[in-house]
Amino acid sequence: MKKLVIITGASSGIGARLAQIFSREGHPLLLLARSLQPMLDLKLPDTICRSVDVTDLQGMAAAIHEAEAKYGKTDLLINCAGLMLLGHPETQSYEEWERMIDVNIKGILTGTHVVLADMMERNSGTIINISSIAGRKTFDNHAVYCGSKFAVHAITENMRKEAADKNVRIIVIAPGVVETPLLSHTSDEQIKKDYNVWKDSINGGLDADKIADCILFAYQMPQDVCVREILIAKTKQAD
Ligand code: NDP
Repeated sequence: MKKLVIITGASSGIGARLAQIFSREGHPLLLLARSLQPMLDLKLPDTICRSVDVTDLQGMAAAIHEAEAKYGKTDLLINCAGLMLLGHPETQSYEEWERMIDVNIKGILTGTHVVLADMMERNSGTIINISSIAGRKTFDNHAVYCGSKFAVHAITENMRKEAADKNVRIIVIAPGVVETPLLSHTSDEQIKKDYNVWKDSINGGLDADKIADCILFAYQMPQDVCVREILIAKTKQAD
């Protein structure tokens, strides 16, 4: 059997697609998100699904240790769970800012905290963090989302350097707009409407398959090759 792959945010969008693609490649999986049923509905073999909030370090550790006891040490952790709550800075609720900071930043740290030391000790392993083009440049109504994703870029690059000597890869994938339910959690109806008008003007976002393909490509490079960053967007997405 191939090595264990952990995917957070596997109940929807890019994470669910990643689960299918890595399962097709023959990996045992640990799938994590708060909603259990959509992950069970994928009906993937050699897969443990657990309802865990990525901000809960103890919950993450328990699920990861359970999966490692069954399938061996984690070879790949994909931190995909995330939240995009767009808003005007002068009116957006503090709670929405806090939620994005918690899920998008702390949510990549919990799983990393559980697996990184062990990967470095074994001189092998890969962590892939899903950031965004919004982790590279700013966009209207994206202030705190961009801030959270700039943090993902900074944390990834800093940790990559510090894990390099131990042959551990830490990679960031930064997509432009992808067709998933991500926008649906934004509470400002006008912002959602305007975003969808813009998205239609570029004939929709990327298919989640394309992001999963990039992640598989980066992972399947030999362990001594680190594709440090992939920034991918629709050709028609100018910004
Ligand atoms: P979706 O909304 O489809 O998926 C988000 C996933 O994150 C869900 O599985 C959700 O599961 C999970 N999640 C959210 N909060 C938590 C939490 N507290 N604990 C555990 N899981 C959580 O969006 P995408 O697939 O598009 O998003 C995946 C990643 O891709 C995100 O990091 C996003 O920022 C990034 N991205 C997306 C782009 C896009 O245009 N779609 C563009 C650039 C980056 P549940 O609610 O069940 O917990």
